[in-house]
Amino acid sequence: MGLGIRPGHLTTDLISRTGVMASINMVPLFLGGRTSIVVDMLGVSVHSYYLAHHWIGRVVAVQGLIHSGLVISRVNSSTLDATHIAGLSAASASALLLVLSLHLIRRAAYEFFLGLHTLLAFVVVVALSIHLASRGWMRYIYPLVAVLLWTINGLARLIRVFYLHAGQGYTQRDQATIVLHKRPGTDSVSGLTLTVWPKRPMHVRSGTYYYLYFSDMGLRMRFQGHPFVVSWWDDPVNTKFTSLSFLISPQQGLTRALTARASLRSVILDGPYGLNPHLEGYEAVLLFAKGIGIAGMLPHALSLVEQKNHKDTTSWSRVMTRNVDLIWILEENCQEQWIDGWIKKLKEKDPVDKRILSVVCYLPSSLDPEKERNSDRFYQKFYGKPPRLQTLINIAVEAAPGRTMIAVCGDQNFSGHVRALAIDSMESSQDVTFEEVEFRPCRTKSEGSGNNWWMGAAEENSGTRTGNSEAVTLKGTNGKTGTTVQEKKD
Ligand SMILES: Cc1cc2nc3c(=O)[nH]c(=O)nc-3n(C[C@H](O)[C@H](O)[C@H](O)COP(=O)(O)OP(=O)(O)OC[C@H]3O[C@@H](n4cnc5c(N)ncnc54)[C@H](O)[C@@H]3O)c2cc1C
Repeated sequence: MGLGIRPGHLTTDLISRTGVMASINMVPLFLGGRTSIVVDMLGVSVHSYYLAHHWIGRVVAVQGLIHSGLVISRVNSSTLDATHIAGLSAASASALLLVLSLHLIRRAAYEFFLGLHTLLAFVVVVALSIHLASRGWMRYIYPLVAVLLWTINGLARLIRVFYLHAGQGYTQRDQATIVLHKRPGTDSVSGLTLTVWPKRPMHVRSGTYYYLYFSDMGLRMRFQGHPFVVSWWDDPVNTKFTSLSFLISPQQGLTRALTARASLRSVILDGPYGLNPHLEGYEAVLLFAKGIGIAGMLPHALSLVEQKNHKDTTSWSRVMTRNVDLIWILEENCQEQWIDGWIKKLKEKDPVDKRILSVVCYLPSSLDPEKERNSDRFYQKFYGKPPRLQTLINIAVEAAPGRTMIAVCGDQNFSGHVRALAIDSMESSQDVTFEEVEFRPCRTKSEGSGNNWWMGAAEENSGTRTGNSEAVTLKGTNGKTGTTVQEKKD
């Protein structure tokens, strides 16, 4: 029969195997449904971890259902004992977990999903312990290890959070301030900047994100932890340590509630998490962002500029990067104000004689031609002209003084498009690498222009550099080869 199933014992062996397999597979699920210290240390990205958690969970639920289905088919309902009922409860709870974890439900009511998910996981482990109690300690060990894993993981997080917040450095009343970015002429908020002053000095790497807990947001929201990328960090001022800033696009839950606040008494930072893509190992770096994706890309630009300008003396010798192009496709013109102040600071940090960064923005709506004029080669803006991404990539790769990293942070549609273009480039050059960062924004219903306005431009053939209007100057082409990407006139 194979698979160790004995002839004539098909049902008995299947019952035993599916039961054992479901119990063993259940163990890693208790590392939790979000990233954790262990997962982060293993170098697993949050999305790979989500994927593993979802699929292992589905397999466990199916194995549990097969196991209980076969048992029910063999046992007379009048002879069902407490052990059977406990097993059935565990299988039913895991089946319910499967249904309630559908993307639709997670997206519509995340906190409801999270609470119920945790409760049902608890029911599964208790019911399974009762079910296995009579089968000897070898079987009982699976739920025990699962609970131990969950406890150790939780304790490790708690200890780190406690350490981070037991510092003396912060003395003012409010630990965080909020700056709202409103749409012109309206009260509606397109984004907000949350700046937190941690109680201990922190060394921030690009790509770092924290789960934030806000202790004065009312009982219901107090225990919610939401992940946000550190988009900017400032140098220490007077008694305050490095401040961390988070750029947030309001959704429907806690992030919406933040738009009613100007400051927060206390913010608990659980982290840092996140993988470092080590962009400094590439001679040319092309950062693509769309909408709130700028929150995930700006820290990489900041880190490279700081490292290149020797702020971090331990690492500057390892910085290979000579060209960094940050290409940002905005969903509404007003998103520009999100990073206005940071762009000015970036420019100061990247002196003209050693400049490595160029920022190119594509805004959806056209303006008066006088206002649209580009005066700054460091920060170029194009209004109502969709970008020709393929051409930008080709030119940057061609002009790169070595290896090129193409990184993206945007919604699924945008990231998928850039990924496809990067794969095309990788087919013709072995020096190109692609990276999708850990923050993957979901599609937003932006006011004003459509979300996909950027798709309007027909991509030109590889390497085309001619056109009839304004020119985009990428860092690698600036004054070196004299080549520029030409933008079409409307
Ligand atoms: C690694 C990472 C980094 C992120 N960085 C940023 C950032 O810099 N700026 C930014 O604006 N957004 C960021 N996000 C997304 C941000 O965490 C969610 O938009 C936020 O949690 C939504 O909160 P809400 O209560 O308003 O959401 P809801 O309106 O309740 O839900 C909106 C969406 O957010 C998802 N969501 C809700 N709560 C969580 C949670 N605790 N964990 C994960 N997803 C959740 C829901 O599934 C749903 O799809 C990041 C997400 C991840 C995974």
